[in-house]
Amino acid sequence: MANGGQKVVLITGCSSGIGLRIAVTLARDEKKRYHVIATMRDLKKKNKLVEAAGDAYGKNLVLLPLDVCSDESVKQCINSVKDRHIDILINNAGVGLLGPVESISIDEMKRVFETNFFGVVRMIKEVMPDMKKRRSGHIVVMSSVMGLQGVVFNDVYTASKFAMEGFCESMAVQLLKFNVRLSMIEPGPVHTEFETKMMEDVAKMEYPGADADTVRYFKDVYLPSSIDIFEAMGQTPEDIAKCTKKVIESSSPRFRNLTNSLYTPIVALKYADETGGLSVNTFYNLLFNLGPLMHITMSILKCLTCSCLRRRTLSPN
Ligand code: NDP
Repeated sequence: MANGGQKVVLITGCSSGIGLRIAVTLARDEKKRYHVIATMRDLKKKNKLVEAAGDAYGKNLVLLPLDVCSDESVKQCINSVKDRHIDILINNAGVGLLGPVESISIDEMKRVFETNFFGVVRMIKEVMPDMKKRRSGHIVVMSSVMGLQGVVFNDVYTASKFAMEGFCESMAVQLLKFNVRLSMIEPGPVHTEFETKMMEDVAKMEYPGADADTVRYFKDVYLPSSIDIFEAMGQTPEDIAKCTKKVIESSSPRFRNLTNSLYTPIVALKYADETGGLSVNTFYNLLFNLGPLMHITMSILKCLTCSCLRRRTLSPN
């Protein structure tokens, strides 16, 4: 149970990656300001989190089961929190989907929306009424730079994050009236199981329905570039946890929070030309015409963004 003065933080998807790291970072806060309710859909996966939390486990960090795709699970979880009092909700659970859209079934696409979009909506609907009543609270959503800028062969994942961005941009205005804050965290690539799971899926797939040229562009052009980008620009879950902590500790938290300033110019392209031509053509050229140059650029960037310099790319500062 939270000590008086501690903020109750509920986080979804804490079995691995960013969610696990945010839970541990907050639970191990030096001033012990947080009571963390770390949730995951399968508590059998708790060991990594429990180990990383160390002596904070059982004190500043407790576990609850929660599947964001189930109305019942969400209700049960929130009802089991004392007085349903949650100061900060961090919507982190998410799934990826990569590949030519012709080879992806509508059911698979729905699964992504069910988690990345409806999962967040379900959580917000359950927690928001109490926050509004109390005239206090902070809802944080793990979006992505792909919630701001479309990326080839990530069509459905990008769409799910765009949907969430639109939902939250609309909600933020109403919530402000009730003194409830809403913040989006927008990481670029982050080294987690997310990337590994997607790459494993990609290796297994045969892409039925997609023509040979599309499969070739995906496997021989997109995937190597994507790996280069992850290696050169990828952040760690610790980077994202630190950024999230800064956002929740800010006296006037920002709505949008890009975690990797290397992406600022990429996102800016979109707003620099309202016709959309600039960003579509730039991405086309980068991928299909300047592939080898991009590989060299990414290799240089990888050297430049060694860990000491990478620390400086963390925003907001
Ligand atoms: P991981 O795959 O390591 O973590 C995803 C977490 O979400 C896991 O704990 C997973 O649980 C959980 N999850 C999936 N479905 C559900 C569900 N129905 N109910 C509850 N939990 C669920 O990936 P990341 O840590 O990288 O991803 C976390 C968030 O960050 C996601 O929203 C992702 O979109 C976003 N993000 C990631 C980036 C990256 O490059 N890694 C970049 C930008 C954004 P389980 O173990 O049960 O599958």
